[in-house]
Formats: sequence, structure tokens, C-alpha cells
Amino acid sequence: MGYKVDAEGFYGEYGGAYIPEMLYPNIRELENNYMKIVSSDSFQNKFRLLLRDYAGRPTPLFRAERLSAHYGTQIFLKREDLNHTGAHKINNTIGQILVATHLKKKRIIAETGAGQHGVATATVCALTGMECIVYMGALDVERQAPNVKKMKMLGAEVVPVHSGNKTLKDATNEAIRDWISHPVDTHYIIGSVVGPHPYPDMVTRFQSVISEEIRIQLMEKTGRDYPDYLVACVGGGSNAAGAYYHYLEDRRVRLISAEAAGLGVDSGYTAATSLLGRPGIIHGSRTLLMQDDDGQIEEPYSISAGLDYPGVGPLHAWLAESGRATVYAITDEEALQAAMLCTRKEGIIPALETAHALAALEKIKPGIKDVVVLNLSGRGDKDMETYIDKLEI
Ligand SMILES: *Cc1c(COP(=O)(O)O)cnc(C)c1O
Repeated sequence: MGYKVDAEGFYGEYGGAYIPEMLYPNIRELENNYMKIVSSDSFQNKFRLLLRDYAGRPTPLFRAERLSAHYGTQIFLKREDLNHTGAHKINNTIGQILVATHLKKKRIIAETGAGQHGVATATVCALTGMECIVYMGALDVERQAPNVKKMKMLGAEVVPVHSGNKTLKDATNEAIRDWISHPVDTHYIIGSVVGPHPYPDMVTRFQSVISEEIRIQLMEKTGRDYPDYLVACVGGGSNAAGAYYHYLEDRRVRLISAEAAGLGVDSGYTAATSLLGRPGIIHGSRTLLMQDDDGQIEEPYSISAGLDYPGVGPLHAWLAESGRATVYAITDEEALQAAMLCTRKEGIIPALETAHALAALEKIKPGIKDVVVLNLSGRGDKDMETYIDKLEI
């Protein structure tokens, strides 16, 4: 069995589209059109131009000499942190805003937890002059004030959601409700490889530019177009899916996923979804999901807002279950130490999410001749308060 999505939208037994009947028209329209649009020359020309001149691609593949010496191996960092807005998320929002334009949509909705996806969405809406509404749990609106300000400056309307726990899940419900009442003029930009088919596949394709570039850049630097180890952090799983895409069927490449253990896998304060999750349905797809015996979704916890999610994209559920990817759960403390090491060895302050991938370098013990590519998903500016507090800087 392969690792690309099948005709019904499944990866193995994960994925699909489990949605309320009232959403069928919206999802059908997208499902029937996305491949046609994405593979057209006119889309590809616009997408490639914006990735280059707006996002700043290709992002460099950097040979991290001092980190390599520290671990006794050859480490290359794929610098997604150098993208406009500071992370890989912009690859996806550029792709989706172009799909929305092709479908003649006038209005964009999104939901956001920490605000990073909200900012990436508001950014491309400003770029294209599209109306933008971002749903956000009322608690998150309070906790993420700088991102809320950014979205507002970019012209987005931020709608605080006061139901439930006032966090991401509640914001998602509100966004879905909005989409059901605006089926004709509105596109819903989902921020990771989650949600009903075709979102996981569509977002993976937009992010796959990462592994497309890694292949070319590794060839130039090492004379070989694949690494021995490919390391990425997994929240919903979009940066990992993009970094893995062109290597999914290449068994020479060991895929290493880092998820958030929080205070520890057994602590009750964790987001180690693929280790602790059981099959269930969240946000319209069947995947691994942290839930209690009654099927109630358990509240996730991680120091890193981008990994603080109770599910995982269906591709990653399948990669973990089939053994294609090796998953390590990284604690808050391990991530903090890895962030410090990367900063001091390479002069790069990584995002807290990325720090989980960096901490996985401690676990895999690569050899001196092994080539390790690590997807440096984002920069750490947004996490400075946490670093200052926890690392006593
Ligand atoms: C949002 C985010 C993540 C987690 O999202 P994925 O979809 O798993 O990639 C990881 N790193 C950074 C820097 C992020 O902003």
C-alpha cells in the first residue's frame, strides 16, 4: 500500500470526509475542482511566482557545521524560518488563496489557535484584496494578543468564540457553521494537513515544494538527492508532509516525526497523539485522536502552541501505524534545551515547534557519514517570552 491519498481520500484506513450533509456542496466543489486547478499552467505559474517573489523561495538548505560536529553526523537545516511571515504556513495559504480566486470566491474564513495560521491567512487576503474573517477561541484571543493585532492590521476581522473551552475546537465549529451558511461565495482555508478530503492532500501538495527543493539542494551539496534521515515536527503535520512528500515511497530515507510529549507521555499533560491516540473522527476525517473511554476528545497540552492539537493529519496516522515513520515524543524540557543548543551552535533561534524536531536528534543517533535533513519549520521570535521565562535568560 502506498502513502499517497487514494481515490476516496484515504491513507490506509485514515482520512475520508466525515462531514454534516449541509457541507456536501462546499466539499464536493473543492474535491471536483482542486486537481484540475492545481495542475493547470495558469495556477502553477502564479503559485511559483508568489512562492519566489513573495514568500522568498527557494529557502536555503544550510549545512549546520557546529551542530553536525556536536552530534557526530552531517546535519542540513531546511530554512523554512526564512519564509515571509517566518514559517512554512505561507506556502499553503498562497496555494489556497489562488484556488479560492480560481473558484471565484469573494470571502475567506479560517480558524486559528495560536494565531500563526490566522496571520498567514490574513497576509494572503491583504495581498489579493480578499475579505478575511478569522475565528478564534476567546481564551486564545487573550493569550495571543500580538497575533490578533497583526491580523487586524492586515485587515482581517477576528471573531472571538465564547462557546465550549473557548479554544481551537470551538473556533473550528464556528468556522464550519459560517461555511455552511455561505456555500457559494466563501472558501475555508484550513491550516494543516487535517480536515475532510481533499484538504489533507491539497495542503500536502502545496507544502511539497519543501521536499522538491531538498532533492535539488542535497544533490548540489552532497552529490546524492536523498538523506538518510529526514526529521520534522508534527502538529497537524503540514511541514512534515511537505518535507516527506517526494521521499514517501523511498525506503532509503528514514522518516523521523517529533510530536509534543508536553510534561511527559503519561503525565496527562501531553499532545503525543500518534503514541496515545486511538482511531476516531475529528474535523471531518478519521485519524488517531486523543480521547477518553467514552470517545470524548482529551484536551491536549504542549509548551508549543502549534503542536497543541488532539489529532494528527490522516497521512501521519498512517505513516506512524504502518511503521514508515518513527515517532518520538519530545517533552517541553527537551525542546527547550534543543532550542538553546541550536541557538548557541548555529545562531538560529528556532520556533518552539521546530525545537521538538531538533530534540529528536538526541534520539536517532545517526552515524558520522549519515546525512540528516531537518526541516526548520519556523523562527523563534514569536516564542521569545516563553524562552525568556523558561530558560531564565
Ligand atoms: C504551525 C507550526 C507548526 C505545526 O504545524 P504543522 O502543520 O504540523 O506543520 C510547526 N512549526 C511551526 C513553526 C509552526 O508555525
